[in-house]
Amino acid sequence: MVYYAGVDLGATNVRAIVAEADGTTIGTSRRSTPRGPTGIDVTEGVLRTLREACGDAGIDPARIAAAGIGSIGPFDLAEGAVIDPANLPASIDRIPLTGPIAKLIDSEDVYLHNDTIAGVIGERFHADRNPDDMVYITISSGIGAGVCCDGEIMSGWDGNAGEVGHCVVDPRGRLTCGCGRDGHWEAYCSGNAIPDYTRLLAEDDPTISTSLPLEGSEFTAKDVFDLAGEDELADHVIDQLAHWNAIGVTNVVHSFAPIVVSFGGAVALHNEALVVDRIRERVSEMVMTNVPEIRVTDLGDDVVVEGALASALTEGTGDRRRLRG
Ligand SMILES: [Zn+2]
Repeated sequence: MVYYAGVDLGATNVRAIVAEADGTTIGTSRRSTPRGPTGIDVTEGVLRTLREACGDAGIDPARIAAAGIGSIGPFDLAEGAVIDPANLPASIDRIPLTGPIAKLIDSEDVYLHNDTIAGVIGERFHADRNPDDMVYITISSGIGAGVCCDGEIMSGWDGNAGEVGHCVVDPRGRLTCGCGRDGHWEAYCSGNAIPDYTRLLAEDDPTISTSLPLEGSEFTAKDVFDLAGEDELADHVIDQLAHWNAIGVTNVVHSFAPIVVSFGGAVALHNEALVVDRIRERVSEMVMTNVPEIRVTDLGDDVVVEGALASALTEGTGDRRRLRG
């Protein structure tokens, strides 16, 4: 019997799952992502987590035929490593992944993707009709997309395709993105951006009443969504977020003609009615081509690790016709 593994390397947690050839999970593990001091320490944390998932499954790692990894980026794909990740300490410059995992499982069959590409692989694999054209969009601390178009998972030559959060949605460029440029989608609508955007809207119209703790250091996106329907400013912010989100999603739909757009990430998962339902309403008015199904992932927080496993099961594609075993 052969086994398959999926690994999710995030800025906060490392997760691993081990499954049988039909995708049935038989072992899992989860640890905090090591904060360094070096990238090798992160690699070792990943290997430890994968070994623990194998232990949980009661198998030797060498019996794993293939592994998929969904990871924070950016990547050096040729080297199978993460390079200078933005959300980990600066001392971490290089996290080798593909080589060390291949060595652990004694197989060269290791697929490395960024987390949103792993997301679209998992969403495609688990979707009803296993569509050839779909997009996965995460709205969390940042915004990004994984795209499958004409049955091809789009990664780009360097693995960095789908950075749609850095598309300009506001030509006035009123807010500056974490990347340093103005007007980007994630500078308005990501979980990290929503507090600043809320303060900007409050300054624009001081007559809007609010009980949001705008100046508090603990003010977060969650505070805005928690006051929906009860606070004039919160409702205004949520409405404006829908406006920018719908522009971003419409651009993606016009670019790739997906039949399904699936959302994940904490902001979308925790606020389906306030975020995703409103995107659906607006996008249906804004798209001049076919309007896709717009939904929230059924996989919840597991979407990346399940996508990594689906990649291992289907040679990096999420295409169920390519299931092995
Ligand atoms: Zn940007």
